[in-house]
Amino acid sequence: MMRSISIFGATGSIGESTFDLIVRAGGADVFRTVALTGCGNITRLAEMARTLRAEIAVTADPGRLFDLRAALVGSGIEAAAGPDAIAEAADRPADWTMSAIVGAAGLVPSLRALRHGRTLALANKEGLVTAGSLLLASAKVHSATILPVDSEHSAVFQALMGEDTATVERVIITASGGPFRDWPLERLKVATVAEAKVHPNWSMGNRISIDSASMFNKALELIETREYFGFDPDMIEAVVHPQSIVHALVGFRDGAMMAHLGPPDMRHAIGFALNFPDRAALPVARLDLVQLGSLTFQEPDSKRFPALRLAREVMQIRGLSGAAFNAAKEIALDLFMAGRIGFLDMACLVEKTLSHLSSEINLGNDASNLEDVLEMDHLARQRAGELASGKITNR
Ligand code: NAD
Ligand code: MG
Repeated sequence: MMRSISIFGATGSIGESTFDLIVRAGGADVFRTVALTGCGNITRLAEMARTLRAEIAVTADPGRLFDLRAALVGSGIEAAAGPDAIAEAADRPADWTMSAIVGAAGLVPSLRALRHGRTLALANKEGLVTAGSLLLASAKVHSATILPVDSEHSAVFQALMGEDTATVERVIITASGGPFRDWPLERLKVATVAEAKVHPNWSMGNRISIDSASMFNKALELIETREYFGFDPDMIEAVVHPQSIVHALVGFRDGAMMAHLGPPDMRHAIGFALNFPDRAALPVARLDLVQLGSLTFQEPDSKRFPALRLAREVMQIRGLSGAAFNAAKEIALDLFMAGRIGFLDMACLVEKTLSHLSSEINLGNDASNLEDVLEMDHLARQRAGELASGKITNR
């Protein structure tokens, strides 16, 4: 039988790389594509759906259903629109599902896909930060497999293969440091969206690129490491590594460290998850160590990048704090992208939101119920919006 696949967030950066690997592996001759989803880029979504002969294409934007139908006319491919339609597309079983929607909007489709007890390739880190325990518990209940699709977490996963996790002493994920790695605080204050969007090593969607500049991406990834692998927060470190060649290292109690190296190309982590447990040949560049010459590492600066410090708090508190942190971060990022707050205001707003929320509710409260998580996500967005517009002030 043909292996079936679905891609949520097919038109994004991770989605395109996934599509590329699927097409190279034989496309519709090898895979039966169930669902592809996107949002604004209807032409591309329809084109991908035709290429892979998908059963259904779904746009998150209800206003684009007419356009999607028109773009698919004569193909026999179903069209649907809106967040509910995306969640329903995840109810259609697929052997392998790529979860690559950006933001907490990716959480529900991930949870719905896990119910089939198959494999979820999880790129959507915001969902994991929002409701890590819920996702992992759901995978367990339904005997589904979650495979991390973040370069650092795929690296940790690979370094842990065949190892006893009880012998692990530390986990180090690396950070490129982003475009502002060496910028002084004064210059960070006036950093623009255009400057923040340009990542030195990786080509990614706009939101994650800006999160890399503020190191909110690394903050999410510290929490992600905690959620995926369950290590104590003080065993998890982030180190700046400007070349983005070493993605993560695992240190064991005998002093050995297993490092994962590769070129900065997400098709490695995606391809690893697509072929797991096999290691198939992948179209990624091979490293030339002599040409690279040297790999350097430095301490991250949590004064200039306070997101890292905030992540530490969330890793300790757990419960609903991840949902609050991620939601406040998404609002702060929206406001920065809209030119309404400055670059450094993002971390300030997230911190203020967390401190305001913790005066209202215990952020450590249990997060094993989806309704509670979504309520916290909603509340944090509301409070962040109010704090930003000065409707409430932080005592
Ligand atoms: P992107 O912005 O390029 O693509 C996002 C995708 O989600 C698009 O298909 C878009 O149409 C869809 N989308 C956007 N808003 C939506 C909504 N509200 N509902 C449903 N669909 C929506 O993002 P990306 O860079 O591909 O990142 C996707 C996810 O993977 C993110 O969670 C990101 O943090 C993670 N990730 C990305 C990379 C990378 O190299 N790009 C690396 C590691 C992890
Ligand atoms: Mg990463």
